[in-house]
Amino acid sequence: QVRVRFAPSPTGPLHIGGVRTALFNYLFAKKHNGTFVLRIEDTDQNRYVEGAEQYIVDALNWCNIPFDEGPGKNEKFGPYRQSERKDLYKQYADQLVASGNAYYAFDTSGELDFHRTQDESNGKTFIYNWHNRLKLSNSLSLTEAQVQAKLDAGDDYVIRFKSPQDQTLHLKDIIRGDIKIDTNVLDDKVLFKSDGMPTYHLANIVDDHLMEITHVIRGEEWLPSLALHYQLYQAFGWEQPEFAHLPLILKPTGKGKLSKRDGDKLGFPVFPLEWYPEFGDSATGYKEEGYFAEAVINFLAFLGWNPGTEQEIFDLEGLVAAFDLNRVNKAGARFDPDKIKWFNHHYMQEQSNDHLAEAFQKNHKQLETIDVNYIALVVGLIKERATFVNDFWDLSSYFFVAPESFDEKASKKAFKDDTKAIMTDVLAIVSNINDFEVETLQTEIKGWITKNDISFGKVMMPLRLALVGALQGPDVFDIMYMIGKNESIKRLKKLIQ
Ligand code: GLU
Repeated sequence: QVRVRFAPSPTGPLHIGGVRTALFNYLFAKKHNGTFVLRIEDTDQNRYVEGAEQYIVDALNWCNIPFDEGPGKNEKFGPYRQSERKDLYKQYADQLVASGNAYYAFDTSGELDFHRTQDESNGKTFIYNWHNRLKLSNSLSLTEAQVQAKLDAGDDYVIRFKSPQDQTLHLKDIIRGDIKIDTNVLDDKVLFKSDGMPTYHLANIVDDHLMEITHVIRGEEWLPSLALHYQLYQAFGWEQPEFAHLPLILKPTGKGKLSKRDGDKLGFPVFPLEWYPEFGDSATGYKEEGYFAEAVINFLAFLGWNPGTEQEIFDLEGLVAAFDLNRVNKAGARFDPDKIKWFNHHYMQEQSNDHLAEAFQKNHKQLETIDVNYIALVVGLIKERATFVNDFWDLSSYFFVAPESFDEKASKKAFKDDTKAIMTDVLAIVSNINDFEVETLQTEIKGWITKNDISFGKVMMPLRLALVGALQGPDVFDIMYMIGKNESIKRLKKLIQ
């Protein structure tokens, strides 16, 4: 039974890298009929941000990748917030001390700074491990009585993992294959802090074990922790989960790791956040920028994974079916803002016109009193040119209000010496059409053009200019039909007046 977890720390908005991690966990769980767990790793009280947990939950739901188990949901292995499991971790730290895999350390930050500076002035890097453990203040260097005296006196202490000397660890990662680590470069990581809280490492391992996690799928930034995690499992005598470290997400240029500040304000959060001042007042996320969840998901799936075929469009179900951790790359994945727009354009075409019309109307006061069915017809004509619902107004305002002016360049191109005369005739034809349907308009106007042997451009360009104010847009006859006879006549008159 596959069990995976997404284990964010509620320290702020969920970045796109976090959503990618959640997605890959979700896909892997669903692919194997497993369980996707959400665990909130909130042991670092200094970095805790109010509301961040709700934000994470909302983001997962918006993306359509809800968790199966987590805070407030199927609490079989709960609680799922580490702060609520606080009392549980100390016994595990104690267990490691008792088995000789961990020890108490009393060094103050001042003392540690002193050793650091001293080593640096000798051209060395200070590592708290076997190398200098005995020179420092801990239960390996002090006598039992000294340790007891310090504990009795209430001195601050931490519990450190005792990393072995001269060993080679053989680690396994589904994506990276075999990894060898020389333990001499590892430091004795703190497992338990003086504030009575476990560190990430201890809480993470204990919880993965207790929650029966079978596969740990997380970002590459956690790869350096793998050696310690591996040793912790060994020290506890617990079965290891399998590990998969997802590749870094790179800047659009492909050089360097993607950071919060990169790119345009494409928005790394999925939603806007008041507590995200770096983005300023206009802080928006994917949702607010007008991205569809399907586009975000499809795009994220390809950040590090590919199906091995040319197929690029995948809905969630398709992703679940095709997903395979063995097809995740080691190499960093370039974040391409154009690509996510491309996906959005694609999914825009799949949305129903009614649905898009509602969203369009909600965003524009000018549309408040307009029949939503009419708006839906307009959307159907222009959405092919749009990436976002926010593009609709610029692409379609002339369906709702007459253009205020004619685009200068377009006028130059469309309005020639004979235009006024030609369009006066066209106006007469239009005025005479009673059956104002697309086909009738087409037959009458095109017939007249052919009969008089005029070039199409000479008629169609100024006609479009009159209706749209520019030379873009869908079929001219569709536009005339939509805005109706009176409005068409009005606009033609304005052109030739
Ligand atoms: N709390 C860690 C984070 O914020 C979890 C890392 C892991 O998945 O082990 O990403």
